[in-house]
Amino acid sequence: MKTDNRGAGLKDKIHFKKNQDLHLTIEDFTREGEGLGKYHAFPFFVKDTVIGDVVAVTVTKVKKNYGYARLKEVLVPSPDRVDPPCPVARQCGGCKIQQLAYDRQLEYKFDLVKSCLERIGGFAGADRLMEPIYGMEDPWHYRNKAQFPVGRDRQGRLVAGFYAGRTHTIVANRDCLIQAPVNREILDLVLMHMEKYKIEPYHETGHTGLVRHILTRVGYHTGQIMVCLVLNGKADSFAGIKKLARDLAGIEGMTSLVVNSNMERTNRILGPACQTVWGQDYIEDYIGEVKYQIGPLSFFQVNPRQTEVLYGKALEYADLSGHETVWDLYCGIGTISLFLAGRARKVYGVEIVEAAVEDARRNAAVNGFENVEFFAGKAEEVVPAHFEKTGDHPDVIVVDPPRKGCDSRLLETMLAMAPEKIVYVSCDPGTLARDLKILCFKDYELKKVTVVDQFAHSCHVETVVRLDRRSLP
Ligand code: SAH
Repeated sequence: MKTDNRGAGLKDKIHFKKNQDLHLTIEDFTREGEGLGKYHAFPFFVKDTVIGDVVAVTVTKVKKNYGYARLKEVLVPSPDRVDPPCPVARQCGGCKIQQLAYDRQLEYKFDLVKSCLERIGGFAGADRLMEPIYGMEDPWHYRNKAQFPVGRDRQGRLVAGFYAGRTHTIVANRDCLIQAPVNREILDLVLMHMEKYKIEPYHETGHTGLVRHILTRVGYHTGQIMVCLVLNGKADSFAGIKKLARDLAGIEGMTSLVVNSNMERTNRILGPACQTVWGQDYIEDYIGEVKYQIGPLSFFQVNPRQTEVLYGKALEYADLSGHETVWDLYCGIGTISLFLAGRARKVYGVEIVEAAVEDARRNAAVNGFENVEFFAGKAEEVVPAHFEKTGDHPDVIVVDPPRKGCDSRLLETMLAMAPEKIVYVSCDPGTLARDLKILCFKDYELKKVTVVDQFAHSCHVETVVRLDRRSLP
């Protein structure tokens, strides 16, 4: 987070107090989607605001060089402000920037990538290499996976919804606007059933009660639906579960009812064991031509429409003719690997989570790909060991690391492996820029950058980049 030291010392002169009311003009926007306004030179972060708003706020916390404040009233709305269509957008911890017009959200994400590439990566004029951002035509109802915590409200009524930001207070909402509309029907049926059979939701404080979360997955192309009840117990502790299965089976597309048992005192949503109560153990969906089986524990990209765009770009940047050897590092369940396999001679995938590697192997078999091989382990260990042993130089390396970016040992090995092209898919423009600086120090040239909006109304940014090996002088 960027803070402004010009505020230093000012606090001593102006004694800000908690609950004090101030007027601010919002002039900047943080990576977490908070607006930033200064009182004289002292910066305050204010959730739910956008650049250009003039706002009345209440001070909630004061640190040495900056503070936090809560929005009380928008006095003069910014031209970029819209009324969030979701009635609980402010309370819910999900969408952080619904109040910012969608085209401005896209500009913000494009500018964020540009500024990271310039500031952190040292790529001056990076926007010349950037394609226009791929936003969504209809940025609603895009998610294929939802996890609703279940509890009771102050009046003791059963509720399902989402956690408020930074807390475990449930904001009741069965009509989330970024989720599939069918979730409403599913939640109504499960909660009605819980009322009728007097089934208690889970209570975190006492570690009592049964139903922790209701997880749903909906196949974008297939319409197949999985409902997974996350219980503090086994399937047989959920009274009348067969009846619930019959009721849910009336919903078009219903394919699978699963119970996941999570009996630990933990913030993790899912426990290790699953039991299928009705239907299949998984749903199926497609990305492009490739079919994937998705179980309750599988990692799968949450925005299928935009994932096709993202992987399409990765494939375009890999520029394969059918003869290449490709490594797909941080491959998850092999989604990108299989997307590339139809156009390459051989694809190797590396992923740290064993269960994901099993999914990847199964998905390769489901699609009849015999030219893919998956390794379970850390990319920064598997790849150097393989290279030391074989000395093989692949044609293309694709990486899609988590937010912390690539391990430096892996980056060194990639440079030694010297592929013609590197395709870097990133969910964090800061670490992307840091890693690109290392790769482009000598051997590679940044050729193309595309930002794809996978997470409308949140601050997350997904980027795909093509690097070409510089030709020797
Ligand atoms: N490419 C996949 C998944 C990307 S998410 C897809 O598009 O679906 C990043 C993946 O990196 C996760 O599956 C995570 O488990 C994995 N991962 C994290 N650290 C790793 C490491 N050191 N080595 C290999 N994989 C790792």
